[in-house]
Amino acid sequence: MERYAKQIILKEVGEEGQRKLLVSKVAIIGCGALGSMMANNLARAGIGKIKVIDRDYVELDNLQRQFLYDEEDAKQSLPKAIACYNKLRKINSEIEIEPVIADVNPGNIESLIKGYDLVLDATDNMETRFLINDACHKNRIPWIYSAVIATEGMTLNILPGKACLRCFIQSMPSSLPTCETEGILNTTVAIVASIATTEAMKILLGKDVREEALYVDAWRNEFLTIKVKKRKNCPTCNGNYEFLNKKTGSQFIALCGRNAYQIMPMKKLSIEDVYEKVKKIAKILAYKDYMLRFSIENYEFIVFPDGRIIIKGVKDEKIAKSLYSRYIGN
Ligand SMILES: [Zn+2]
Repeated sequence: MERYAKQIILKEVGEEGQRKLLVSKVAIIGCGALGSMMANNLARAGIGKIKVIDRDYVELDNLQRQFLYDEEDAKQSLPKAIACYNKLRKINSEIEIEPVIADVNPGNIESLIKGYDLVLDATDNMETRFLINDACHKNRIPWIYSAVIATEGMTLNILPGKACLRCFIQSMPSSLPTCETEGILNTTVAIVASIATTEAMKILLGKDVREEALYVDAWRNEFLTIKVKKRKNCPTCNGNYEFLNKKTGSQFIALCGRNAYQIMPMKKLSIEDVYEKVKKIAKILAYKDYMLRFSIENYEFIVFPDGRIIIKGVKDEKIAKSLYSRYIGN
């Protein structure tokens, strides 16, 4: 408890509150800019169990805004969940940290969040957020929506029985600005992640939290709140879980912000299977239980334990498909 002394002095927390935090469980979905900051804050605050879920690996241009990672993580293309785990373990060895390298989808989300007191959204796309909204509503788990783009950010607490994300944002926007075209100010990330983490602590402590959405523009020093009302015909609130009931999406997904494709094979391949296939023709860069990384031609392949493969250096789907079928596929 000594390590939390300055937090226990806070009348908002106290010793009893700290004990509550130490038995709380939080799942963070996405461990990029927002997620790594949230994980950092929560680990230091003494949240008893933190699960960090991420599908991606660390790259050099992440370091500008992804506060937990360093050049060595990028050099090794370390999966973010693993890099995050390594850092958190050094920050606080007394709490439980579970890294999960996975793409959150309708097939796995419920098992990933079951038994957790709170879910934090730190993803980079609306589809996954609507999926979190469905899964948390169905399992009555509070969650916090957070998003950042350019100098702006938004966050909203979503509690069981109250307005949900689809009460606020009715349907998938046809196109959204991405970090590739708009960029991200790292202080916006820090502000939004810190506000969301504070609300997370309040939810875990059973305190009242803000019911409005909060909009921030860090560059212009603007903070606005937006009223969010429960919508009568909201599909999620009426138990129609459109995103949770979806069949898992396309096999080939372009990764936001870079020349890379993710492939989710129909038939799951193990890291060992792929290694056996390519060991004679590829240059093996890393062969670990959490990742196989190799290069063929000028392309780099990364294989994860859940069977996903990311091919770096690919700009279009046709090339991704042909590389996949040539070297790995059926
Ligand atoms: Zn709703």
